[in-house]
Amino acid sequence: MSRIYLKSGKEESLKRFHPWVFSGAISRIEGNVQEGDLVDVYTSHKEFIAKGHYQVGSIMVRVLTFDEHEAIDRDFWRSRLQEAYRKRTAIGIAQHPDNNTFRLVHGEGDYLSGLVIDIYGQTAVMQAHSAGMHYQRQEIAKALMEVMDGKIKHVYYKSETTLPYKADLGQENGFLIGGSKENIAIEYGMKFHIDWLKGQKTGFFVDQRENRALLEKYAKDRSVLNMFCYTGGFSVYALRGGAKSVYSIDSSAKAIELTKQNVALNFTDDNRHNAYAEDAFKYLDTMEKDKYDLIVLDPPAFAKHRDALRNALQGYRRINAKAFEKIKHGGILFTFSCSQAVNKDQFRTSVFSAAASTGRKVSILHQLTQPADHPVNIYHPESEYLKGLVLYVE
Ligand code: SAH
Repeated sequence: MSRIYLKSGKEESLKRFHPWVFSGAISRIEGNVQEGDLVDVYTSHKEFIAKGHYQVGSIMVRVLTFDEHEAIDRDFWRSRLQEAYRKRTAIGIAQHPDNNTFRLVHGEGDYLSGLVIDIYGQTAVMQAHSAGMHYQRQEIAKALMEVMDGKIKHVYYKSETTLPYKADLGQENGFLIGGSKENIAIEYGMKFHIDWLKGQKTGFFVDQRENRALLEKYAKDRSVLNMFCYTGGFSVYALRGGAKSVYSIDSSAKAIELTKQNVALNFTDDNRHNAYAEDAFKYLDTMEKDKYDLIVLDPPAFAKHRDALRNALQGYRRINAKAFEKIKHGGILFTFSCSQAVNKDQFRTSVFSAAASTGRKVSILHQLTQPADHPVNIYHPESEYLKGLVLYVE
């Protein structure tokens, strides 16, 4: 196996089990290593420290184990997936009677850097973010079937947009095991069409489940604006919660189509719901004041990289300021950021300056994050990405 030697002193983060080796930490590579290969990582004192998948880029090794004697084989995948499943059972989500939609593997949060698996009923959707995981996809799929012990019948692989483009892996989306046209999943009793083929992420934003459930409790008799609605998750919960009206807005016509489908799946001829394809900034600019007393802002990651941070923070400030300006007295604002590059404090500061620019009295009711099936690896704070605030606006 090829070996990677670190520069002196660069082993510190690995000693504290951080699962990434950055290119700048590497002094030399021994052997003919190819993208996706397993490599052993050694300190400058020639001591073994970690083993993982090699990749060209800023993160050069994604660590799979810190144990020199642990082989990366069928047993390895089985035991890591078993652990991930045990965690979801401990949370209570794997066996929930009204829910068959959850995240089984959340990358580093489950000690499987580069891998995501979401479960939708009898179908698992698997997504590789590294060449190493891509090459192991068949092994992982087989191990998954064993671990899920009959609960999964199909494994769909959806990595076309998540794998490094330059690696030229020739990947295609498709079923690795089974194959089914059935694509309706159930989240806390609500039905959703999941678009494995073309949808964002694995087809659905599983990470907003608990926040949607919280919104349901606030929806009664309110006029709701669900901005950046995508598949309409928040809209469906608002309707079940007894909202007076729900407006779903997204710039993508396809998203509006999906939202309408999902509302129709759960409510027949419900004339409380309206959906329009429009730009968020434009809509908020032109909408009348006091129209809504519950607004959800769940924009796409404004900052995909650290260098885009300034613009992203401005984006959050602008969009939240518009909501503060227009929301009715006694209104509730659910506002989110899913940018990994924006931390909790930076997001909160943006929302704070947005509120201050309007001079309204604002109180924080809830501070939200990703749900327990998207766990944060304690040694890898970067795995915490979703941030949300629920605000009361006087
Ligand atoms: N709230 C959703 C997830 C939102 S994803 C859920 O719970 O599932 C972000 C969405 O924002 C995408 O659907 C994307 O089409 C939409 N979007 C991106 N830019 C936009 C803009 N300028 N105006 C309105 N929608 C936008």
